Amino acid sequence: MCYAIPGKVIDINNKIVTVEYFGEQKKAINEIDDLKVGDYIYAQGGYVIKNIPEAEAQSILTTWKETFFELQELDLRLSRLDLEKKGIDKKLALILDRAAEDLPLKEADLLHLLNLEDDKQIELLFKVANFLRQKHLGNSCCVHGIIEFSNYCSQGCLYCGISNHNKALPRYRMTKKEIIETAYEAIEKDGFKALVLQSGEDPEYSIDDLSDIVKEIKKRSAVLIFISFGEVGLDGLKKLYQAGARGLLMRFETSNKALYDKLHPGKTLENRLQHLEEAFKMGYLIITGGLIGLPGQAKTDILNDILLTKRLNTEMYTFGPFLPHPHTPLAKVKPPAVKDVLKTLAVARIAGGKDAKIVVTTGFETLYAGAREEGLIAGANSVMLNVTPKKYSENYSIYPGRAHAGEGIQEQIDTTLKVLRDLGRAPTDLGITHD
Ligand code: SF4
Repeated sequence: MCYAIPGKVIDINNKIVTVEYFGEQKKAINEIDDLKVGDYIYAQGGYVIKNIPEAEAQSILTTWKETFFELQELDLRLSRLDLEKKGIDKKLALILDRAAEDLPLKEADLLHLLNLEDDKQIELLFKVANFLRQKHLGNSCCVHGIIEFSNYCSQGCLYCGISNHNKALPRYRMTKKEIIETAYEAIEKDGFKALVLQSGEDPEYSIDDLSDIVKEIKKRSAVLIFISFGEVGLDGLKKLYQAGARGLLMRFETSNKALYDKLHPGKTLENRLQHLEEAFKMGYLIITGGLIGLPGQAKTDILNDILLTKRLNTEMYTFGPFLPHPHTPLAKVKPPAVKDVLKTLAVARIAGGKDAKIVVTTGFETLYAGAREEGLIAGANSVMLNVTPKKYSENYSIYPGRAHAGEGIQEQIDTTLKVLRDLGRAPTDLGITHD
């Protein structure tokens, strides 16, 4: 199974190459020395990751072509904008019209959208977000894999089920060999082209250990690697980039400084943001965002979170619900309403970068069984599948009752492809640069 389709290189301008996919042109960053115009490649997240033989590319493209255009047609039909404004107040109609035309919205207007309560009005918001997703990104949907290789964490974030507050959790650490083998299998057997390596802040793995793991995975297979080990310091980020990591998944969780301080003892928002800003300057693709429904969080905070995510040059927005874990200090706080999560995804699509990917998080799927389908038609265009070996994944308990926890990889792939097919989405990453 393949999660990217091959494209043909039609132009090379220093590190930027133009790639054609079924008549559409996209840009990607190239780090392969001998790449030539006319070569076929796989790109992920805007990076060329692999040069492939023409015969192999042609065979995949022939298989894909019909399906691709069929899916595209279905997606176009489902995302058509037929705003039925009867009974909708003038203010909302004006805001949605501006949004659909890609005109900038005032913060007060975005807040108005986040504050909508009427189901019919909210439905219109989702339609506009879905229309914009289709208009700017077509029907491609990123499917990344994630390996959670250690659930040890030295930190005490108040909401987190693998924090040092949780004394009841059985802890695990995968060996270097296990991590490398798991990645190899996910890439070579299951077809993933982008993988996130994630753990708590676990001092047991040094930066050199983590760099060796990244290097070895890259040596064996062509893949885009995102790291998510918490705050590794700027030197750590540099070393991991040199080792071959090209993406950083690190949420800032909330842009409200007072709330951040309360929830993250011993940590500062400033340091978090510095990591994200410097990582972007180093060349990392950024995945970041926040938690929705934190105690004491206002709608203006969520809007500020979305705007901050945009300012951070984010490649993929990740906004998930706060979910109370029984072994944390926030055990008794209620999770947010499903519609608040969906509204956040939709407003992120409207207010965020035009090319932004927006992920339907596993946290949202844990809160609500219909999250994936509904999130994808409210502006999202990305999902992550858990490829951690089953014997470990149930203990990566950042929140309880995680969706898909008992499923094998093939089962997750099959259900994901069905959801995507039904919505006319192609599980591809057509490679859009962030410059
Ligand atoms: S949120 Fe991250 S840093 Fe904080 S306790 Fe959980 S794993 Fe550790």
